[in-house]
Amino acid sequence: MNKPKPKLSVAIIGAGIAGLSCATRLQALGLQVQIYEKSRGPSGRMSTRNGEGWSADHGAQYFTARDPLFIEELNTWIAAGVAAVWHPRLSVYEASQWRESTSNESRFVGVPAMNSPGKFLAKNLSIEFNQTINQIFRKDEKWFLQSLENGAITQSFDYLVLALPAPQATVLASSIDHSITELCSSVNMQGCWTVMARFAKGVNMSFDAAFINNETISWMARNQSKPGRTGQESWTIHANPQWSQQWIELDKEGASAQIIKCAEKLGLNCQNAEVSIHRWRYASGAINLEAGSILNEASKLGLCGDWLNGGRVEGAWLSGYQLATAINASQNF
Ligand SMILES: Cc1cc2nc3c(=O)[nH]c(=O)nc-3n(C[C@H](O)[C@H](O)[C@H](O)COP(=O)(O)OP(=O)(O)OC[C@H]3O[C@@H](n4cnc5c(N)ncnc54)[C@H](O)[C@@H]3O)c2cc1C
Repeated sequence: MNKPKPKLSVAIIGAGIAGLSCATRLQALGLQVQIYEKSRGPSGRMSTRNGEGWSADHGAQYFTARDPLFIEELNTWIAAGVAAVWHPRLSVYEASQWRESTSNESRFVGVPAMNSPGKFLAKNLSIEFNQTINQIFRKDEKWFLQSLENGAITQSFDYLVLALPAPQATVLASSIDHSITELCSSVNMQGCWTVMARFAKGVNMSFDAAFINNETISWMARNQSKPGRTGQESWTIHANPQWSQQWIELDKEGASAQIIKCAEKLGLNCQNAEVSIHRWRYASGAINLEAGSILNEASKLGLCGDWLNGGRVEGAWLSGYQLATAINASQNF
C-alpha cells in the first residue's frame, strides 16, 4: 500500500491580515502551517487600542472590497458578525473649505473592532505570539528560525513566508536573497503619527469622518459612528504621511501638540480630551507588482503583504491568498 505523503510544512512570519489569509488558504489546501508573531495578538495594522472604558481603531480605518475573492471572504466575516458596512457622515476639507463627500464607495469595518476579522481567522490557526523572529537560515532543504525571546525554534520547515512590511522583510532576508532584499529596499514606506482623543461628553461635529487635504492631519473619525462600538466617545486623528515621515523622530508630546493644534483649527476642540499617541513607523507604501506576491521556488521563500499589492487591507488579504495558491502549485511539481 502507498504511504500517504507527509504534509509539507510552512512557517509564516507575521499575523497581519496577509499572513492570516495565506495561512488559512494553505491550511485549507492541506499544508501544515505555523505562524510566528511578535505582538501579543493577531491582525497587525488592522488594529484597535483599548483603554479603560474606551477603544479606538488606530491603524486601518475602514476597507473596501472590489475583488470577487475578497468580497466572498468579506461575506463570511459579515455572516460571522465580525465585519459590517460603515455609513459615516463624510466630509472633505480642501482649499480652506468644507464640503460633503460625494463618494458612494462602500466602506467596511471590523466589528466590534478593526482587529475582529483577524481574530476570527486566527481562531483556526496555530500561532505563537510574542515571538520576534530575528534570524532565518536554510540548511539541507529546510528553513530554520530563531526568535529574540526564545532563541532557536526547534521545528524546521519546507517553506518560509515573510508576511511583513517591506523594511522588516529586508532585515530578515538580507543574508539570504539579494534580489528580494533589493526589491524590498526599493519600497518607500511612510510612517504615520496617530492621535486618539477621548471625550467625557459627546462632541458636536457635523461629520463622523473627514478627509483633510494639505494640512498636518489627513483624516479624523469618530469611532462610535462605526457599528458595534461602545464606551467613551473617541476620535482617531491621522497626521498626513509626508508630515509624519518628516517628523517621525519627534518626541510624542511634540507630535501630539502639532496634531491637536491642527484638529482644533478644523473644529475638533480637544481641550477637555484625554489624548494618547501612537507612532507607526511603517504605515503605508507599495510597489507596482502584477503578481501581488513573490515566491522563489528554488529557495522556497515567499513574500506577501499590502506593499506587494496596492498598500491596503484588501490587497494584503489577496496577496496572502495568492501566495498560498502559488506555494500549493509549486509543491505539486
Ligand atoms: C495609520 C494607518 C492607517 C491605515 N488606513 C487604512 C485604511 O483606511 N484602509 C485600508 O485598507 N488600509 C489602511 N491601512 C493599511 C492596512 O492597515 C494595511 O494595508 C494592512 O493591514 C497590512 O496588512 P499586512 O498583513 O500586509 O501587514 P501588517 O498588518 O503590518 O502585519 C505584519 C505583522 O508582522 C508582525 N511582525 C513584524 N516583524 C516581525 C518579526 N520580526 N517577527 C514576528 N512578527 C513580526 C507585525 O507585528 C504584524 O502583526 C492603514 C495603515 C495604518 C498604519
